[in-house]
Amino acid sequence: MSGTKFSSYADQDAAQPPPSPPLRAGWAWHPPLPLAPVPVFVWPPRPLVTLRYLLSRAFLGSVLLPFGALAAITWLWLQPALERCAELRADWILQMYARNLGLMLLVAGGLHLFFHTLGRQGKERKFDARALNATPQRFFARSQLLDNMLWTSASGVTVWTAYEVGFMWAYANHLVPFYLDPRAHPVWFVLGFVAVPFFAATHFYFIHRLLHWRPLYRLAHALHHRNDNLGPWSGLSMHPLEHVIYLSSVLVHLVVASHPLHVLFHMQWNTLGAAVSHAGFESLTFRGRPLLMLGSFHHQLHHRHYDCNYGTPFMPCDRWFGTEHDGTEEAMEAVRRRRHSRPARVVS
Ligand SMILES: [Zn+2]
Ligand SMILES: [Zn+2]
Repeated sequence: MSGTKFSSYADQDAAQPPPSPPLRAGWAWHPPLPLAPVPVFVWPPRPLVTLRYLLSRAFLGSVLLPFGALAAITWLWLQPALERCAELRADWILQMYARNLGLMLLVAGGLHLFFHTLGRQGKERKFDARALNATPQRFFARSQLLDNMLWTSASGVTVWTAYEVGFMWAYANHLVPFYLDPRAHPVWFVLGFVAVPFFAATHFYFIHRLLHWRPLYRLAHALHHRNDNLGPWSGLSMHPLEHVIYLSSVLVHLVVASHPLHVLFHMQWNTLGAAVSHAGFESLTFRGRPLLMLGSFHHQLHHRHYDCNYGTPFMPCDRWFGTEHDGTEEAMEAVRRRRHSRPARVVS
């Protein structure tokens, strides 16, 4: 899941030189270790470093501008007029579902085609040396791709659309308590977009800890964890219950002054961003240099080792609560100690 969203956009500024060997065992490529935290919520505060990060290729260039532009395009040209949304009718609801399915096909399908089908970047900046579908017996029709696409389209896009439909209906009926007018409050309007990845990261940490509670894990989250080798369609391949819980972070816009554009941005960040963060590649490169930051090594470590990195690097929740795996052997040892100090649990 998050993230969207994950170390992807954050771990390493694209301007840094490529990592040097030795690689940790089992990886074809990984960023320099230990993973560097996002320098925003750090103590003591480092305002200049924070500002530099917020203007970096990793955040501005790979998160804020592309997802902001997509949300704006959606709002301006692909969103049914709010007046139509005042009444719950199949025509505009199906239009939003078709739009969201199209966006997911474009993003997850495009990434899959480029990286995994056509192999246009070879293994450059690919985390896992294995090709996808290394464990076909886990998936419907023995196909990780088909299985992931089914869960994403049937459940993920449906729940995503349901949240957006609820908000558009509520906005059209003036039921959202705090509306933010961009012309009256342009600075707050922009800051709203900046805040979303950090809020979503915090929400993700806590609901993800909950999803690893054994009954919920077995009921729902194990489905996502069948993907130990990640591709773009793995990002939103989840159980419907997990979709409802995971995407609930958007409800924050009921209590914080927001514009419908913030809602679209938030939802696309959590859904399309998950496809991006699970791409399996750290970045899209041009002449060997990162152009657009994509996948998350931080979250790759979670998929491989389970008991670590429940959050994303946008917020240091894993560091605060002692569940961080920064990719080093010492961190791996700490994960093993935590695992052995608890009763046996089902992990796959
Ligand atoms: Zn995941
Ligand atoms: Zn998990």
